[in-house]
Amino acid sequence: MSMSTDAQRMERIVSLCKRRGFIFQSSEIYGGLNGLWDYGPLGTELKRNVKDYWWRVMVHERDDVVGLDGAILMTRAVWKASGHEETFSDPMIDCRTCKARLRADQIAEKNGAKQCPNCGGKDLTEPRPFNLMFKTYVGATEDESSLTYLRPETAQAIFVQFKNVLDVSRKKLPFGIAQIGKAFRNEINPRNFTFRSREFEQMELEYFCRPEQGMELLEYWKEERLKFYENIGIGRDKLHVKEVPDSDRAFYSRGTYDIEYEFPFGLQELEGVAYRTDFDLTQHIKASGKSLDYFDEETKERFVPHVVEPSAGVDRTVLALICDAYAEDEAPDDKGKMETRIVLRFHPRIAPIKVAVFPLLKNKEALVAKGREVQRLLRPHMNVFYDEGGAIGRRYRRQDEIGTPFGVTIDFETLGEKGDVLRDTVTLRDRDSMKQERVKISELLQLLLTRVT
Ligand code: ATP
Repeated sequence: MSMSTDAQRMERIVSLCKRRGFIFQSSEIYGGLNGLWDYGPLGTELKRNVKDYWWRVMVHERDDVVGLDGAILMTRAVWKASGHEETFSDPMIDCRTCKARLRADQIAEKNGAKQCPNCGGKDLTEPRPFNLMFKTYVGATEDESSLTYLRPETAQAIFVQFKNVLDVSRKKLPFGIAQIGKAFRNEINPRNFTFRSREFEQMELEYFCRPEQGMELLEYWKEERLKFYENIGIGRDKLHVKEVPDSDRAFYSRGTYDIEYEFPFGLQELEGVAYRTDFDLTQHIKASGKSLDYFDEETKERFVPHVVEPSAGVDRTVLALICDAYAEDEAPDDKGKMETRIVLRFHPRIAPIKVAVFPLLKNKEALVAKGREVQRLLRPHMNVFYDEGGAIGRRYRRQDEIGTPFGVTIDFETLGEKGDVLRDTVTLRDRDSMKQERVKISELLQLLLTRVT
């Protein structure tokens, strides 16, 4: 695809997100706030499904991982010890001409001279570090003593609570602590829709191990994480694994992979999988004076565990899912004429709505009653949408556009008007093939469950 069609595709995706209620600009009626987004009714469902599936495979389906839900605010001492206060910054350059504040790595050179991408000016400052953490004050006094930061990552609560979790869960190495939660970064240039936001959610696992297991577990978790994306519908062919070179890696990390996705705006990071050695725990041991080590009952050794960290972004995963699912094809309208159809080909597992129930006509009481009955049958098990308004083709199309994988239509056959064989059967329509099959209502739930979980 050429640059311009990629840009157009992204534009259509952003517009669909707003039109159908996936993602809105934050504070929109006041003109918006840059880098901040609100998820609408469908975006909320999609996001929840991503987080629930992550939790399912990373925690519930394993014996060796437990969860944590830490506070967003922690004492400033944490951010000093972790190194964030000192070094969590991006180099920033100011343009003296148009006053734009820019990330140094986003400034292109033209004929050997650095140029402002905003106004083309060449009068630029030297790069200076800009700390990305949002400052805030805890309590009634606003001074240095009450200063802390909104967390820029969720991981630190896991390290700080390592001993407590170890004691209560009685796990043996290797084992992990998982967490999903908000993180905040005052990004200098938020852009590419939700890709680089100032408030976002992370899904992080800290998997603790013996030092000699670190490199092997780094490979293991990279593979596990690739499988995760495949299982929610993002194929391996769209994912790239970048081995982060020594020069770009944090000094304490012995190996890092970036899992990247081919977004319409380029190949960009979805998740980082890093072997962080014992850096974080050691920093907190030094700064707090508390022991955060591990005693091995068998070997009688005491040591600080090493850690491998798969750190994924919920918002970036959601954006990748939407970009990946977006398609335009052809479908017949109510008169059989072919027209362009917008369809989100979500994997049923993460689709915001799993099935839509359509009584053929809304002014036929028996059809409506049956429709409501089917809705009640499915509802405790999955997100169901009931729609009785408008021509059936238009109702299908509205669901295609938001990625609902299945549609159930209640018609006169369902009521037994074409004989007993078809009584209490419905048509089940597949979003992608648009094929319809006749299914017994009594078998519908089981059939759908096998496809959506
Ligand atoms: P980038 O280089 O793109 O700024 P990063 O390498 O700083 O990202 P990490 O600190 O490794 O990111 O954070 C782990 C994950 O958190 C990222 O892979 C991404 O999915 C998510 N994430 C980080 N920053 C943002 C952001 N500003 N907006 C949305 N998600 C983010």
